[in-house]
Amino acid sequence: CGIIGIVSPDAVSERLVDGLRRMEYRGYDSAGVCTIEDGQLVRRRAKGKLKNLEEELSGNPAPGNVGIAHTRWATHGAPTEHNAHPHATDDVALVHNGIIENFKPLREELQQAGRTLESDTDSEVVAHLVSHEFEKGLSPQDAIKAVLPRLRGAFALAIAFRQHPDLLIGARLGSPLVVGYGDGEMFLGSDALALAPLTQKITYLEEGDWVVITRDTATIYDSENKVVERPVVASGASA
Ligand code: GLU
Repeated sequence: CGIIGIVSPDAVSERLVDGLRRMEYRGYDSAGVCTIEDGQLVRRRAKGKLKNLEEELSGNPAPGNVGIAHTRWATHGAPTEHNAHPHATDDVALVHNGIIENFKPLREELQQAGRTLESDTDSEVVAHLVSHEFEKGLSPQDAIKAVLPRLRGAFALAIAFRQHPDLLIGARLGSPLVVGYGDGEMFLGSDALALAPLTQKITYLEEGDWVVITRDTATIYDSENKVVERPVVASGASA
């Protein structure tokens, strides 16, 4: 239901949870974060209120300067910890807002390819599809290009790659996603409000857009994978 992502020179987990708190008004049943630290995906999830996730994080911190986070409003799969986002494979972690309508045939295809899915969600298939392409040796960008055309339904996505702690990829179709521009750091959010304490410089992605953010750059592609320029606006002014 709510998404935030940060690529930064500084620790991200507290700011990720702050961003989730600013999206609590949307409603949610569980929450989670995933950071990359020392080449590992560090994932913490909890059912229920953000307080539960914070308790989990105080016992088991998620250090790292890149990360994604999510508040979930379940559409497919019960509101449990194992269905909470981020969903992850060995290499890829992903948060998703919306519904992947064709998740059943995609899940069957992945299972036939020998992959083991752990949750009951529609979202997890996207993490595995991206991971499957990535494991063939594709770049994160080429893996996304291969997967996005296969998805039916509505989505905003934020994706982290264990071997690429310098970037996040975002994508949207039917669910909003914004890019936020910081000073030497970059953000993704499902709304400008989530990013308000971090930056007021926002780009609203258009339908079918996807984006690669690093600390200093945001490269936006349209649905035909052409690099496009989208306006940078002041979030306060356009709200
Ligand atoms: N359909 C996904 C799920 O049930 C995402 C729901 C959401 O937007 O939070 O896990």
